[in-house]
Amino acid sequence: MRYEDEYRRSIEDPEGFWAEQAKAIHWHVPPAKILDYDNPPFRSWFVGGLTNLCYNAVDRHLDARGDQLALVAISTETNLVREITYRELHREVNAFAAVLQRLDVSCGDRVVIYMPNMAEAVFAMLACARIGAIHSVVFGGFAAHNLALRIDDATPKLLIAADAGMRGGKVIPYKPLVDAACAEAASPPAKVLIVSRGLDAAEPKVAGRDEDYATLRAAVGDAQVPVEWLESNAPSYLLYTSGTTGKPKGVQRDVGGHAVAMALSMRTVFDVGPGQVMFSTSDVGWAVGHSYNVYGPLIVGATSLLYEGLPVNPDPGIWWSLCEKYGVRTMFSSPTAARVLKKHDVDYIRRHDLSSLQYLFLAGEPLDEPTAHWITDALGKPVIDNYWQTETGWPVLALLPGLDMKPVKFGSPGFPNLGYRTKIIHESTGEEVGAGEKGVLVIEPPLPPGCMTTLWNDDARFLRSYFGHFKGLLYSSLDWAIRDEEGYTFILGRTDDVINVAGHRLGTREIEESVSSCPVVAEAAVVGVADELKGQVPVVFATLRQATGEAQVRIDAADSMRKQVEHSLGAVARPARIYIVNALPKTRSGKLLRRSLLALAQGGDPGDLSTLDDPNALEDVKRALQRGPEFGG
Ligand code: ATP
Ligand code: MG
Repeated sequence: MRYEDEYRRSIEDPEGFWAEQAKAIHWHVPPAKILDYDNPPFRSWFVGGLTNLCYNAVDRHLDARGDQLALVAISTETNLVREITYRELHREVNAFAAVLQRLDVSCGDRVVIYMPNMAEAVFAMLACARIGAIHSVVFGGFAAHNLALRIDDATPKLLIAADAGMRGGKVIPYKPLVDAACAEAASPPAKVLIVSRGLDAAEPKVAGRDEDYATLRAAVGDAQVPVEWLESNAPSYLLYTSGTTGKPKGVQRDVGGHAVAMALSMRTVFDVGPGQVMFSTSDVGWAVGHSYNVYGPLIVGATSLLYEGLPVNPDPGIWWSLCEKYGVRTMFSSPTAARVLKKHDVDYIRRHDLSSLQYLFLAGEPLDEPTAHWITDALGKPVIDNYWQTETGWPVLALLPGLDMKPVKFGSPGFPNLGYRTKIIHESTGEEVGAGEKGVLVIEPPLPPGCMTTLWNDDARFLRSYFGHFKGLLYSSLDWAIRDEEGYTFILGRTDDVINVAGHRLGTREIEESVSSCPVVAEAAVVGVADELKGQVPVVFATLRQATGEAQVRIDAADSMRKQVEHSLGAVARPARIYIVNALPKTRSGKLLRRSLLALAQGGDPGDLSTLDDPNALEDVKRALQRGPEFGG
């Protein structure tokens, strides 16, 4: 099947196309109407259809593949591996659902899940889906304040937390964070359910509020909980965006549209079917974790690997040894992770038998060419960049090897995915730009199934944030893009990451790409710092592949970066200053926090740091700023 034909059908006859895709999932009652678009840009897919995500992910597979592995939860932190068949998953999800009911959770109630990548996090999500409760997974690495913000937005009846997480062997107790978040929140949950792994000696229980999972699990035994059939457009879950650019947004997803989009993308993009194995290294707290660790692989009857731990522990070959052991067909990770592995010997990859592995998909951030080349050479498999957002829930731009394998073009996530009417438009005129011209990537509504239905309790912010930028009704991705003559789209960074140097508009991403192409550079971030003369000037922060304390080595490295930028982009893009640092500040999801870098570079306050991963990185940047740049003055 050719991509071009399928894509054309999905755009020219969306109702016909999606009616056909809907057959891939189980409907208790089939939809009466495929699309309702009476109140644009809001839209409803598969109206009147009754279905259930848990049924599609678990129950439906019991007959054909009850004894097949559904989930393998591997932790190199607790050194525990749990291999769970579909039958076992069914039992555990039913038990968890029975526990939820005992805690008075019912259809439409919100449940916040604050857990690391452990099997019970998946049980909890599916148990919510089973009874129609709306889960909101909060990344386990977030601090109490972040948790409190999300609690107040979702107003959950129940919070489910692990006793502790672990990172690099260090135990991070969750209970004190939960207590602090509940104290800070204006509307804390009535109940807190603790799933203990015995990592944290029990903190004192709050009487009447705290419950212990193991106790309740034992009490419910092998209880069976009937599936709640939900209208396709009922909310299934809430998930907050990464908060890279500001206050996180509570993305609301539906039931039927999400299931159908998962089934379609597993087949066409990720090329994984029943009985095959997918390994996504994401955390369940992110969109990738929801879609491609939990719902996607399980809905199609595949086996999903869930990993808790660092990519370099016990050694940088750990992921590839898992690929070998479980016969992983499709792997999904992030450019940040690939850059971490790039600092180590390729032999950690090459020594493993990766004959089952067909693809490595990477998403979440721009994939710089040097990293793409390095990992492609190391693996000898296609490395497929794909572009999407928490909001969309599945790739907007990708290659679709499940239909036909187009050549990979480094730096490009490929083509519009099925059902996405993407356009690149001029930022001020709103006109579509030609090939080779830069513009803003937009999606013409109605958004396809699986994309957000709105922001939780905030239709106004939904309209303002995504549809308020251009004349006419267009969903703005808030990312710059450019399309080449062959139709490959390239992402050039976020629209708020543009620098205006003496009237020339430069994307920070273009300069970063150029700096990163220097062999000595591990990673680079570029911000536009205010300048009296030129308006803004590019300032570079870079880490080196080989950390060095020697001043001259750093100065030489900075000099090669400057030359590289001048050579590839011209003198106009020449960095005003280059700072060599040991680490760059990132969000917990591994994205560069450019807004904080910019604030520091301008002598200001780094702003909301609630999503910052490693405070040392920020301190390191401050030290570098005090010490002075390796290039410029
Ligand atoms: P917030 O919206 O709260 O500021 P965020 O945008 O980082 O946070 P996500 O939804 O996790 O939250 O990330 C989506 C963004 O990540 C995209 O809009 C884009 O900027 C970037 N991105 C994702 N995939 C790619 C990719 N393959 N290439 C380039 N950029 C990507
Ligand atoms: Mg965003």
